[in-house]
Amino acid sequence: MKKVGFFKSIHFKFVLIYVLLILIAMQIIGVYFVRQLEEQLVTNFSDSINERVDLIAYNIGQEMLIERDESMPKLAEEVNSILNDFFSEELTTVKVIDSNSRVIATSDLENQQLVGKRITDIPVKQALVAGSRAADKIMLDNQIGRMLVLTVPIKNNDNVLGVIDLQSSMEEVYDQMKQINQIFVTGTVIALAITAVLGIFLAQTITRPMSDMRKQALEMAKGNFSRKVKVYGHDEIGQLALTFNNLTKKLQEAHATTEGEKRKLSSVLTHMTDGVIATDRKGRIILVNDPACEMLNVPRETVLSESILEVLGIEDEYALEDLLNETDSLILDFSTSTKPYIIKVSFSAIQKDTGLINGLIAVLYDITEQEKIEQERREFVANVSHELRTPLTTMRSYLEALAEGAWKDEELAPKFLDVTQTETERMIRLVNDLLQLSKLDSTDYKFFKEYVNFPHYFNRIIDRFELTKHETIIFERHLPEKKLFVEIDEDKITQVLDNIISNALKYSPEGGKIQFRLADKEGKLEISVSDQGVGIPKENLTNIFDRFYRVDKARTRKLGGTGLGLAIAKEMVVAHGGDIWAKSEDGIGTTIYFTLPLEKELEDDWE
Ligand code: ADP
Repeated sequence: MKKVGFFKSIHFKFVLIYVLLILIAMQIIGVYFVRQLEEQLVTNFSDSINERVDLIAYNIGQEMLIERDESMPKLAEEVNSILNDFFSEELTTVKVIDSNSRVIATSDLENQQLVGKRITDIPVKQALVAGSRAADKIMLDNQIGRMLVLTVPIKNNDNVLGVIDLQSSMEEVYDQMKQINQIFVTGTVIALAITAVLGIFLAQTITRPMSDMRKQALEMAKGNFSRKVKVYGHDEIGQLALTFNNLTKKLQEAHATTEGEKRKLSSVLTHMTDGVIATDRKGRIILVNDPACEMLNVPRETVLSESILEVLGIEDEYALEDLLNETDSLILDFSTSTKPYIIKVSFSAIQKDTGLINGLIAVLYDITEQEKIEQERREFVANVSHELRTPLTTMRSYLEALAEGAWKDEELAPKFLDVTQTETERMIRLVNDLLQLSKLDSTDYKFFKEYVNFPHYFNRIIDRFELTKHETIIFERHLPEKKLFVEIDEDKITQVLDNIISNALKYSPEGGKIQFRLADKEGKLEISVSDQGVGIPKENLTNIFDRFYRVDKARTRKLGGTGLGLAIAKEMVVAHGGDIWAKSEDGIGTTIYFTLPLEKELEDDWE
């Protein structure tokens, strides 16, 4: 934040206002006080002069009334002596004028030539004629400066005997005023200086808590709530500081709650298996969790603030409004040629209480597996229906032929019946296999395991096939002499071996060799059955363990297979903790391998 400029600061404003206030107050007081003082001083001065003038007017009047003879001093001398007694100061000039307007005496030693001269001043004349005193007058003289002018008649009862004309310098009074003014100005300057300092202090009492609060607010913005504003007093600012501290506490609590909620939300989002994307009003991504990034195979940093339409790759088909109104989920197929990958996306709008749409939430589910299962289920139903329909249609046509009279044909009838019997058996086999598989699918399927010496057990099974096999097919056993123990459900593994060996027999050509092997491979017993049959193309090697999968459909059906034999074998081997796979060379032969965990300890005991 920018610092407050000096001229905009409260400090400056406070000091300015204070100083101006004091200045105005001093000015008003000054004007009033000085005027009053001046008036008072002038009145005092003129009163004292008037009193003295009245006194000498009386004295001179008395002297004038005396009848003078030779022996007595002259009137002028007497008057001079009276004047000297009263006005010795040089600042006052007094003229005594007789009733004929002639100057009898003057206190002004430098102007003694005035004595005997007539005075024609109007105030003097007025005083002589009317016997009234002229009002006090203040005049400005170039040399003396301001002076008080008095014209006082000398009276005896109502007779005017003469006039006293007085001029007294008032500079002393005005000097006094000047001094007082100076004191006043100095006082004002001192008062202003003190006010300015006080103003600064006062401003500080306000600005210090305020700048404290400002600092705290800045810290709070950074997420630091530990600071506290110092409370300097219990005035309004102190209360503001207290309220501010209270606010900080509340804000800290709110912040902690929000943070907690945020953490909870983010932990929920990260630990969710579904992907979540949230956008703003314009569809720009503001939040995305890790599963969503993984599903879309995009780094989090690059998708933030990108358009959701582009990230999902649906910008050509959809606009943001479509997604807001989309009630069904979208299915996005990101499958590659090698890997299926299907994502379901559900959208919901984030709405404010006012109904205004604030954003969009998209939840992503990986439904590849679900789709695969669904696909398999559909295929399975189709396969089962197909597998059942084929023998049934065959049987129907043969039965129809029989019903239409073929039963009478001694040659055809047994053949036809034979076919229907074979087909029925095939259906029974199929249903049995399906039942077997559905049993294996159910979770509570139980195995009855026992310890079995595998070479011995394997020999017995091969013996059984040896009795029924075509005489041209050769069996070759590569079985070890020693005992190899495995814990198996004999019935189930018998079925596995039956399926594998019967396949080998089925696909072996006349005179073909079938080899049986056992090998101890890192704690596992590896069982293999090799034939010299048609073989399986490389690309189909893994598929042969899928339900209903057949390499050559027509031929296998002819051979009576259901396409479920190896699928059942795989389920059973896996349930025993083993593995099953095939190796084959087209036209040369096939080997089916499977493993079972070996029980080493038992073996050692028997040794
Ligand atoms: P089926 O009952 O049809 O034999 P299986 O599940 O046992 O079904 O076998 C699946 C498919 O694997 C067969 O249809 C066949 O095409 C192929 N197959 C299995 N074993 C062999 C083998 N030994 N030689 C050649 N092809 C085989």
